[in-house]
Amino acid sequence: MNKPLDSAVLDAISADPGRVPYARPQPWGIVSDLVEHELLTEDERLWAPIGALSWSRPIHLNVTGGYYVHLLRVRRSGVLQRHRHSGAVHAYVIRGRWHYLEHDWLAETGSYVFEPPGETHTLVVPDDCSEMITLFTVHGALMYVDPLGNATGYDDVFTRIERYRAHFEAAGLGADHVRRFMR
Ligand code: FE
Repeated sequence: MNKPLDSAVLDAISADPGRVPYARPQPWGIVSDLVEHELLTEDERLWAPIGALSWSRPIHLNVTGGYYVHLLRVRRSGVLQRHRHSGAVHAYVIRGRWHYLEHDWLAETGSYVFEPPGETHTLVVPDDCSEMITLFTVHGALMYVDPLGNATGYDDVFTRIERYRAHFEAAGLGADHVRRFMR
C-alpha cells in the first residue's frame, strides 16, 4: 500500500532517525490542522458579543465532532446564566475568577475545571472581579434552564457559528470569516 521511499529520504532516516519528519503521507480523509495565534487578541472584531458585557472569541468550531473551543470574556459581575450540559466541558481560567452556585470551589487564574455531562450549574462572576477570561472546550449542547430544570433555550456549535457569522459580517470581516475556525 505504501509507496517505496526515495533513497535520499532513506539516507536521511538512517543518518539520524530522530530528526527527520514523518516520511509517509498522512491518512486519506484527514482534515487540516488548526493553529490560532494571539488568543487574547485586542482585535475586537474577533470577540462576538453574547450578552451584556460578555463576549466569545472562537478558537475551534468542530462541526463533525459537535464541539467548540472558545474564550469567554466577561466584564461584569453577578449571575450570568444557568445551564445543563449534554457533553463534557473542559475549562482553563486565563484571567479573573468565577464559580457555580452549585459548588463550593472557586475557579481562578490558572485553574482547570472539568464539567461532567448531565451537570446543571449557575455561573457567577464575583463582585471583586472586573474581567474574567476562560478557555472553554464545550462538547454537545448547553441547555439554558430555570431553577427547576425547565429548558428555556440552548447553544451548541451550530448556534455559536450563527452568532459568529452575524458578528463577523457586522464587524466587516464577512460572515465566512468563521470558516477559518471550522473543522
Ligand atoms: Fe457550564
